[in-house]
Amino acid sequence: MAVSSSSEVAAQAARRRTFAVISHPDAGKSTLTEALALHAAAIEQAGAVHGKAGRKGVASDWMEMERSRGISITSSVLRFEFGGTLLNLLDTPGHADFSEDTYRVLAAVDAAVMLLDSAKGLEAQTLKLFDVCRHRGIPVITFVNKWDRPGREPLELLDEVEQRIGLRPAPLNWPVGIAGDFRGLIDRASGAYTRFRRTPGGATRAIAERVPAEQAAAEEGAAWDAAAEELALLDEIGADLDPEAFAAGLCTPVLFGAGLPNFGVGALLEALCALAPPPADRVDADGVPRPVTAPFSGQVFKVQAGMDRAHRDRLAFVRVCSGRFERGMPLTHGPTGRPLATKYAQTMFGRDRSTLDAAYPGDVIGLPNASGLTVGDTLYARAPVAFPPIPAFAPEHFMVARTRDNGRAKQFRRGIDQLDSEGAVQVLRSDLRGDQAPVLAAVGPLQFEVVATRMENEFGAPVELTRLDYTTARLTDKESAATLEARRGVEVLTRTLDGTLVAVFSDKWRMRGLQRDHPDLTLIPMLAAG
Ligand code: GDP
Repeated sequence: MAVSSSSEVAAQAARRRTFAVISHPDAGKSTLTEALALHAAAIEQAGAVHGKAGRKGVASDWMEMERSRGISITSSVLRFEFGGTLLNLLDTPGHADFSEDTYRVLAAVDAAVMLLDSAKGLEAQTLKLFDVCRHRGIPVITFVNKWDRPGREPLELLDEVEQRIGLRPAPLNWPVGIAGDFRGLIDRASGAYTRFRRTPGGATRAIAERVPAEQAAAEEGAAWDAAAEELALLDEIGADLDPEAFAAGLCTPVLFGAGLPNFGVGALLEALCALAPPPADRVDADGVPRPVTAPFSGQVFKVQAGMDRAHRDRLAFVRVCSGRFERGMPLTHGPTGRPLATKYAQTMFGRDRSTLDAAYPGDVIGLPNASGLTVGDTLYARAPVAFPPIPAFAPEHFMVARTRDNGRAKQFRRGIDQLDSEGAVQVLRSDLRGDQAPVLAAVGPLQFEVVATRMENEFGAPVELTRLDYTTARLTDKESAATLEARRGVEVLTRTLDGTLVAVFSDKWRMRGLQRDHPDLTLIPMLAAG
């Protein structure tokens, strides 16, 4: 195995941008994802990646479920090159019930694009996801989408971003023509004007032409004057990008456009390359930064099974944090110290996979059949390291799972354990309830449907799920457990994955009452999903 020089790793890391798009369902994330890849010439025709139009090649029963609901449950990784920069776009499920999945993806990116529908502004799911970005210190670039349709005033949208989430907006470009009568974009730094014309169906790149300012002023008329006036106002209030404030999560560059007809997508790509940070040294569990040039290390941020019928297996997604990865290189699984074979490492492009030979910080490796790998696990070569775990969201829905067929207790156990390690649900147990009746905890009820479907089809262990009357969970400890367990409407369970004690309450008033009466109780809020 060739040991690469640290300057090679540093150079490769520097040319990578690993990011996700966060948005409310229907804001146009899938369309923009395709448009970005299209624009970067990674695919010929929009629609080829997610196959939304037609959804050809849908595989497993689970995918069937995804299809019938029209939502994206699985996430894929897209990779494209643009002007010498390698972009890794990690797709995230849009449905609120899978926000836990999205959270894990956000643990693996260095930047996020916050996509807003120009008519709707900041929507509920966008706000939640933005909170996760803020929590993790992920810099956010804002893209105001669907500008080809009637929508709100650009200044009003900027104001909303500033007022509601406290991010100072710094528009990089400015639309000429109101939403619904979109003419083109003025680049604020250079003053250059790009006019867009649609192509039929939006399946190919929109026709963009550079038009000199004087000509544009004459041709666009009132729309140009309005934009010029607004630009002058922006200059006056100094709405300029401060790179340090952006990196600190205080300021967001804003771009306008429309993913469907490919308006302004190139400018977004350029902004990502120029502004999104490359992979940086990642802080380990002891608070010590591991340089990107250190020997290989990575963290599992997602484990997914049954992604499609052709690959009915279990794929662990690993974000490379440091060093160069080479297929076949021996790795150590941090939590157990066991060696891990990487002969079949893969790279993902949409739903297609191919063999991966080398990867650098910021890249995502897929390790198939990686049993024993759990979300949050660290993998390393040579120099041991452990990265902090990826925190779990606070569950709000709880069900007891039991096998419907006593002859299949073993399959039941295996299935539940696997879904647990994938993070499909959190599995909680207690001596009182016994091993055969684990409590499944979820952020959204759709997670239970996934569990029920997969337990039956994948593990051959049909389950019966019974709802429990709990709505709130807190982390606790042994000392507090004794007090809590004596109360009605409270139960203390152990999270199977990490042995953490979790107290669940029928309602938050009960929890608050207990907290008030017993201020010494340990009740730590988990990351809120909403
Ligand atoms: P997602 O749920 O966020 O992935 O959204 P989709 O990409 O599936 O888009 C939701 C709907 O909005 C679809 O009907 C798209 O065709 C439409 N859409 C997406 N982007 C644009 C856009 O820029 N302009 C217009 N007019 N429609 C768009």
